[in-house]
Amino acid sequence: MIVVLEQTILPKEKEELRSFLISHGYRVREIKGESETVFGAVGSAQVDLRSVEVLPGVAQVIPISKPYKLASRELKRSDTVVTVGNVKIGGNRIVSFAGPCSVEGREAIIRTAEIVAGSGAVILRGGAFKPRTSPYSFQGLGEEGLTYLREAGDKTGMPVVSEIVSPLHVDTMVKYVDMLQIGARNMQNFELLKAAGASGTPIMLKRGMAATVEEWLMAAEYLLAHGAEDVVLCERGIRTFETYTRNSLDISSIPVVKKLSHLPVIVDPSHATGIRDKVPPLALAAVAAGADGVMVEVHPDPDHALSDGPQSLFPEQFEKLMRDIEALSPVVGREIARLPRNRVVADESVSGADGSGAGTRVGFQGAHGAFSEAAVLQFFETREVEPVSNDSFRAVFEGVLSGALRYGVVPIENSLMGSIHENYDLLLQFPDVTIVGETQIRIEHSLIGFPGVTADEIKEVYSQGPGIEQCREYINGFPQWKVVPFYDTAGAVAFVAEQKQRDRAAIANARAASLYGLAVIKEGIETNPRNYTRFAVIARSGAPVPENADTATIVFSTPDRPGALFECMRILADRSINMHKLESRPIPGKPWQYMFYVDLELPEDADTYTKALDDLSGTARDVRELGRFRSSR
Ligand code: PEP
Ligand code: MN
Repeated sequence: MIVVLEQTILPKEKEELRSFLISHGYRVREIKGESETVFGAVGSAQVDLRSVEVLPGVAQVIPISKPYKLASRELKRSDTVVTVGNVKIGGNRIVSFAGPCSVEGREAIIRTAEIVAGSGAVILRGGAFKPRTSPYSFQGLGEEGLTYLREAGDKTGMPVVSEIVSPLHVDTMVKYVDMLQIGARNMQNFELLKAAGASGTPIMLKRGMAATVEEWLMAAEYLLAHGAEDVVLCERGIRTFETYTRNSLDISSIPVVKKLSHLPVIVDPSHATGIRDKVPPLALAAVAAGADGVMVEVHPDPDHALSDGPQSLFPEQFEKLMRDIEALSPVVGREIARLPRNRVVADESVSGADGSGAGTRVGFQGAHGAFSEAAVLQFFETREVEPVSNDSFRAVFEGVLSGALRYGVVPIENSLMGSIHENYDLLLQFPDVTIVGETQIRIEHSLIGFPGVTADEIKEVYSQGPGIEQCREYINGFPQWKVVPFYDTAGAVAFVAEQKQRDRAAIANARAASLYGLAVIKEGIETNPRNYTRFAVIARSGAPVPENADTATIVFSTPDRPGALFECMRILADRSINMHKLESRPIPGKPWQYMFYVDLELPEDADTYTKALDDLSGTARDVRELGRFRSSR
């Protein structure tokens, strides 16, 4: 049952309630949600729910109808985010697990770890105890293999996962791994589930090859009921009549499980198909279907792998897959997870360690619920930040400069409408503000109004100019609407909510609806779905340059003579420095004179870049670097 607590419950009442439930044979788990705290009480005991409902501090008691209780979405509405080492699984990020089928030796696993980390994997996999179909096949290196796996993970900064096959191995395994894998063949090995669950180590639970979704969730329930807090489900294909693949990957299980359970779901296309060239398309399909990550087998020399060679990707194939996942993720509103060593902003700078008092405040322009706020949450996802709403872009820059804000997040360019010139100009006007990061989000507009109202009943629609333009085709379908421009999209939602007139609606980010107590009438009403906005993360000059910066934005003007810009470009071209973008803007106060903004790829060798800037200073005027950061492109 779910026991919803009154917001005013006293600590003493809470403890008495807990003791009451435990003494009646329930296991109790406290779940703190955004708006309410509940106790999930599970067990075989049967207590009249009314006897719980009358206890002090109890708001409501709701029975859970599903046989799986702790795993059920009825118990917990929000998605669970599982932490494994320094990686979070289940948020907005797509997490990639990669590595060989089995750990084959020390050098081999270290080499593979370096390869997969280099391409963007964040968790290293490798079997040490292998459940092989044939007793004559390679059975894994056992504990020795675990020591190599650990070493490879530590060397590359990745947490490690390995399969556990016996309850007797728990103590040994947890010494080495950050996550235990329960394999398909052991999904219903209940003694193993109990022992692994009790270890408290995060667990990845594969779906058995003949298991229904319900049986799979019941297996997860075993883990949770025996103490596991962090469980990730893994779809790896089920046995069907099909013989052209090893198993049939059940893509449909992803949305099904997401609806039934709050647990993260990843997909293993390698074991599902058993054939290398089928792995990348299915990994992409899994991401498109809503999976929180993929697990892929990779081997530097698959033809000589000791197990599962035919399904292991060559390193180049994995590299390509990671790039494709990175490109696909924003289409489905996600972003690929990166290792902390790839952090776009040094962590200490967000913790307030420099004593400036800005704490974790990150400024954006617009009301809460704005697309810019979504960009803040996406960029800083794994760190606690406080998004701070500002009236204007200038106010964001001023806040960053004065130290009132630790960071600002401002839009720089939209894929359909081009550059946001005001922010380019502000970057020039605030020389003590620098770009330290970049992120991009997909702009999906929704029609937002009062719950129960249909689009036909609406008379007035509010939104920001570009929002209106981007939804023109949909709006044209309702000629009776009066469309009213508003200063920002989320602000329009707040305004409509305040007005309390049911025939008014707004066009904005779907998130804004719930923030202001309204409903999404229609989602995805933008004419062109390939609508992305790139945001710059800005900080006060002196903020550390992110270790993995790959891009710089520079700005300069040129003398007024033929070929001047060409000469500047040649300085970059001669050093093979790749340019991503060139933008020209009028110089404020100097009619018909222009500044050129260039986004360029930082060369491997830092010296090449420094020399290019030096040379540029000799040819161009007012050369300035606006920041170095990790590109989101
Ligand atoms: C594995 O991941 O190494 C494995 C054996 O997978 P499964 O349990 O899905 O067959
Ligand atoms: Mn394998």
